[in-house]
Amino acid sequence: MKPAAFDYVRAESVAHAAQILAGAGSDGKVIAGGQSLMPMMNFRLVKPSVLVDINAIAGLDHVELNGSRLRIGALVRHFMTACDPIIAQHAPIVTEAMKHVAHLTVRNRGTFCGSVCHADPAAEMPMMTVLLDGRIHAVSTRGMRIIPIGEFFAGSLVTSLEPDELVTTVDLATTGREMGYGFHEFARRHGDYALAAVAVLMRREAGKARDVRIAVMGVGEMPSRVPAAEEVIEGNELCDAAILRATESLRTAISPNSDLNASADYRRHLAGALAGRAIRDAWSRAREAVPA
Ligand SMILES: Cc1cc2nc3c(=O)[nH]c(=O)nc-3n(C[C@H](O)[C@H](O)[C@H](O)COP(=O)(O)OP(=O)(O)OC[C@H]3O[C@@H](n4cnc5c(N)ncnc54)[C@H](O)[C@@H]3O)c2cc1C
Repeated sequence: MKPAAFDYVRAESVAHAAQILAGAGSDGKVIAGGQSLMPMMNFRLVKPSVLVDINAIAGLDHVELNGSRLRIGALVRHFMTACDPIIAQHAPIVTEAMKHVAHLTVRNRGTFCGSVCHADPAAEMPMMTVLLDGRIHAVSTRGMRIIPIGEFFAGSLVTSLEPDELVTTVDLATTGREMGYGFHEFARRHGDYALAAVAVLMRREAGKARDVRIAVMGVGEMPSRVPAAEEVIEGNELCDAAILRATESLRTAISPNSDLNASADYRRHLAGALAGRAIRDAWSRAREAVPA
């Protein structure tokens, strides 16, 4: 299929993009990598009157360390995120998760921020943004606001971003070397969207797990933390019984849907199995980690 007719503007600056979006009312759309937007336009699931192309805007293709936050610009492609040495050092779980994202052509064009804006419930970058307390920097002609991730996702493919807002940066908390990490996902073919994935972070202090974070994707309307499973692990020495209790509480806490790819029961079972593996990896990496 072909998209409905639209106007196209190649923005020269963030201010220029914001101005065009403001003039378009609710009908404008930013295009970054186009890897999700163009298929949706071709199927006429979205019919923007104006496409605002941000690819020529200078200064948006950088990853920066700013104190304890990583700043990922709106034109940082998936392959850049996967290879970036700053991300590998300060948030290695992101590097690990990126190994599962899409195929070569998609990775060359798609952007981290575009994925967060697209808000697919089975996409790795929104999940990383939830896990690492991400903040979304959104600019419009009304100014700039920073949206905490807890106020950003509103459902499958739905966010709190206003139609006239452009995301310039997503910033994430760093984890550092002391934090053990584990990421496991299952997809039918490598690079496809996941049926389920689980990400785990934890420190190890006097033989106990501390600062435990567990996030899931593909098993609900949006990626989320699982506090019930985190609480089972937090402050405890890890043993098989504790891991079993955590995976069972994770299975109880999630509400996956059935679809063409998998039943809800299968996804629930799968998420528990992946959680067990991710918890073990995080624990063993935390044990090996050398404090910075
Ligand atoms: C075959 C295939 C397989 C894929 N597999 C995976 C996978 O395994 N895992 C995964 O995570 N993703 C996967 N994707 C999706 C891919 O990661 C997309 O690149 C990503 O979801 C969107 O990024 P983009 O830069 O291409 O955004 P676009 O397609 O350009 O835009 C997507 C949406 O975000 C909005 N948007 C984009 N950037 C901004 C911005 N800066 N400010 C405001 N709004 C913005 C657009 O208006 C649009 O609504 C796959 C895609 C394809 C085609």
